[in-house]
Amino acid sequence: MTRTAQDFMDEVSKVSAHNYHPIPVVIAKGEGAWVTDVEGKKYIDMLSAYSAVNQGHRHPKIIAAAKRQMDVLTLTSRAFHNDQMGPFLAKFTKLAGYDKALPMNTGAEGVETAIKAARRWGYKAKKVPDGKAEIIVCENNFHGRTTTIVGFSTDPLSNGGFGPFTPGFKIIPYGDAKALSAAITPNTVAFLVEPIQGEAGVMVPPAGYLKQCYEITKKNNVLLIADEIQTGLGRTGRMFCHEYDGIKPDIVIVGKALGGGLYPVSAILANDDIMNAAFEPGNHGSTFGGNPLACAIASAALDVIVDEKLCDRSLEMGEYFMGRLRGIKTDKIKEVRGKGLLIAIEIKKEAGRARQYTESLMKEGVLAKETHETTIRFAPPLVITKADIDWAVEKITTVL
Ligand SMILES: *Cc1c(COP(=O)(O)O)cnc(C)c1O
Repeated sequence: MTRTAQDFMDEVSKVSAHNYHPIPVVIAKGEGAWVTDVEGKKYIDMLSAYSAVNQGHRHPKIIAAAKRQMDVLTLTSRAFHNDQMGPFLAKFTKLAGYDKALPMNTGAEGVETAIKAARRWGYKAKKVPDGKAEIIVCENNFHGRTTTIVGFSTDPLSNGGFGPFTPGFKIIPYGDAKALSAAITPNTVAFLVEPIQGEAGVMVPPAGYLKQCYEITKKNNVLLIADEIQTGLGRTGRMFCHEYDGIKPDIVIVGKALGGGLYPVSAILANDDIMNAAFEPGNHGSTFGGNPLACAIASAALDVIVDEKLCDRSLEMGEYFMGRLRGIKTDKIKEVRGKGLLIAIEIKKEAGRARQYTESLMKEGVLAKETHETTIRFAPPLVITKADIDWAVEKITTVL
């Protein structure tokens, strides 16, 4: 007998830890901006695996690169060289405009790598007394799930019961450059910030915020670390969201879409002064980081973004989508905000909970995920067409 969606969900509930609260859909296939569930129903994907599927599901060029590489070599560890890492990092650093990159796997590992880099740079280059390095972060940040990272989260759900935590982090309000100025001490080595806070609900800071922060960090010999894991690689209408502020962060953390929607690949980008101060043989690493399969996939993932002009497309489709959402006649929407194809609808408090809307949207064939009580995020693959958006807006209008 064929298994229903309910069968799969019951099984997961039994054998998997309950650390997620998924929308009740069981996906079996994906192509471009669309997915199909186990019962054959089609949905438009408005989450893109939290922006890890910017290039669309199973992009043929990325799949082909993966298959090609799988037939020759997949994993060597960094104990040996492989012939894929150099060409990939050369392409990536040239595209991003940095001297070097350090490849890891998940986003959280990228963030951990940036934290380690900043601390080592602080001790070696800035001469901060040993063990005293401070890193400033923002309220409502999301940088991943390791114990160090959740330790400086302000979300009690993320860190409740997981302590004790790593010291050396100071929390300031997001979007407030003056607060950054006030928080810096001689022991501050870095300011870690998301150009737009994705998980917090697509919180777009005031125009020029990042530029002001950058100037403050430069004046104080502090590194600016941009977490572009969600906002990078075309999501907000530019290759990196920090480009809107005309700045070049000292360290950029990239992940999610770097893996082209099929494999975890993350990296930090920085120039020689930081990379050379921070890392020496043996002081950091990862068994899978920089493996040939990952590098072949990430290389193709970057090619697709460039060749298909996905940054321009994200900007154009994002403006169109936001315009259409703002045009919906309903008394339930408080605000539509975003940049490029990173968009959120804020539901009025009295209109209920975002979750009831995301579940109704699912029934209409639109997969979106709520963040917090009143925010619905829309972040479709960047390959989405105008016709797809029109189709989705019709369903969203029905639900709202
Ligand atoms: C998703 C995300 C991370 C963590 O990435 P993982 O691959 O889930 O570890 C870190 N920072 C931001 C801004 C993210 O959106």
